Amino acid sequence: MSRPVVTISGLHKSFGPREVLRGIDLEVAAGEVVCIIGPSGSGKSTLLRCVNLLEQPTAGRIDLLGVEVTDPDVDIDRVRTHVGMVFQQFNLFSHRSVLDNCTMAQRTVLRRSREEAERAALANLERVGLADRAQAMPAQLSGGQQQRVAIARALSMDPQLMLFDEPTSALDPELVGDVLGVMRDLADAGMTMLVVTHEMAFAREVGDRVVFMDEGQIVEVGPAGRVIGDPQEPRTREFLQRVL
Ligand code: ADP
Ligand code: MG
Repeated sequence: MSRPVVTISGLHKSFGPREVLRGIDLEVAAGEVVCIIGPSGSGKSTLLRCVNLLEQPTAGRIDLLGVEVTDPDVDIDRVRTHVGMVFQQFNLFSHRSVLDNCTMAQRTVLRRSREEAERAALANLERVGLADRAQAMPAQLSGGQQQRVAIARALSMDPQLMLFDEPTSALDPELVGDVLGVMRDLADAGMTMLVVTHEMAFAREVGDRVVFMDEGQIVEVGPAGRVIGDPQEPRTREFLQRVL
């Protein structure tokens, strides 16, 4: 079997006296889609942010793309280049066109030529259904379109792993489906994905595995259909009853 893309072992994270991750163990295999569900405040975002060291773990070890990123000497920027992250807030540069948003990091970080960067950007805008909006400014787009641009921007860096933190939570309900559709296509194309989501139908249908977190711990993990359709732990059952 190929080496896991992410291996998290014994991860703890505290903010001051408050321990928000209390011993997390999780592996994500190449091509796998793992969805993380759980109540607000359970530590889902913190876990995702620890994976590419946007938060510094208090204890434990994380291996990302074959590199131990919790090693204090690691060149984290180099590893991060290969990891795409999409947040609830799209964080596009508002005074730059859609195309510029998708080429800037390619040019500065990957040192691609303008031509090469634009080719990759347009191919990925095509993939998210927005090639015809390349010259638009973000404010001219709907929230769903802006989020699809954010996904195209991340994909333009040729990531080996995509992290999604509630990418549809800030969207009007009628715009959610298009973004989930893009994510589904990405999953079908074999992308390795770690997705925090409240969309239970998406988690069930697109996720290979689902992780249920509560109070900083993984309460239950297993095949998506099993965890959502037939949860074994009372806390998972209670959560699903509330959200489904
Ligand atoms: P979730 O994404 O599951 O809603 P979070 O990971 O955002 O949960 O937060 C888990 C807990 O950690 C919450 O109680 C939150 O208030 C706390 N927390 C998150 N980030 C910080 C921070 N930078 N400083 C202090 N507390 C934080
Ligand atoms: Mg969160």
